[in-house]
Amino acid sequence: MNLSTPTSLTFLGTADAVPEAGRDVASFVVNGTHLVDMGWYSTAQMFRYGIDPLKIKTIILTHCHQDHYLGLPQFFFYWSQRWRPEMGTPSLTMIGPEDMLKVLEVTWTFLLAERYPEFIWRPDVHIIEPGEPYETADYSLSACRTRHPVDGRCYRFVDHRNGVAVGFTGDTAYHEPIAEQVRDVDLLLHDATFPFDYPRKGLDQDGHSTAIDAARIAKMAQVRTLMLMHYQLDRCEESLRQAADIFSNVSYAKEGQTVEILPAQG
Ligand SMILES: [Zn+2]
Ligand SMILES: [Zn+2]
Repeated sequence: MNLSTPTSLTFLGTADAVPEAGRDVASFVVNGTHLVDMGWYSTAQMFRYGIDPLKIKTIILTHCHQDHYLGLPQFFFYWSQRWRPEMGTPSLTMIGPEDMLKVLEVTWTFLLAERYPEFIWRPDVHIIEPGEPYETADYSLSACRTRHPVDGRCYRFVDHRNGVAVGFTGDTAYHEPIAEQVRDVDLLLHDATFPFDYPRKGLDQDGHSTAIDAARIAKMAQVRTLMLMHYQLDRCEESLRQAADIFSNVSYAKEGQTVEILPAQG
């Protein structure tokens, strides 16, 4: 292990469901090679923030609501246009819940893939279930279920180069089992869709968290750092103050921001 090598995260977008002017929806890249969720504009956002789309080795989907996979056709089309024969056969692993199989099938259909030789390849697909960790040479990944209207995964990603652990919830209402899944991680990215005083209907109906919900989970899990994702801009400052009263090391993830995480000392 190389403890001086940081784990890097670059945020391609941080908004909820629908982009606002100048903001894409929640998606980020780990170590320049592992993409988590696919926003409306993810491929174009990669150019903007210095990530080469051809270097992506893994796409991890938290769940299959449209705002988390809409950019897949553009991404595959980009690969079909820019992948060069000397690079060998395109190699990509996709990890997510079972709904991903349907999404992939219709994506290739949408691209009319059978008509074009450049679409002859397919990604390797790994359906991840809670309690069944997935290991590669670069990282390990485990998951628990989220509290959301569709089958979602909250992941714990461990970078094998330095032992840094990152948790990301995808979309979820306040859900205490998540605290176990992400216990002691160096960085937790948590859904913070609603302002702190959002009038709740009920956790299962809402399916999303406030900044306060995220801070309560971060505190319970004793994580090092909390970043809030999948949010609307209105009332952020107030929500952040409220969250910081519960868990002080908290910020909103910003589009285009890159964070580098080194293992904790000692
Ligand atoms: Zn979403
Ligand atoms: Zn969702």
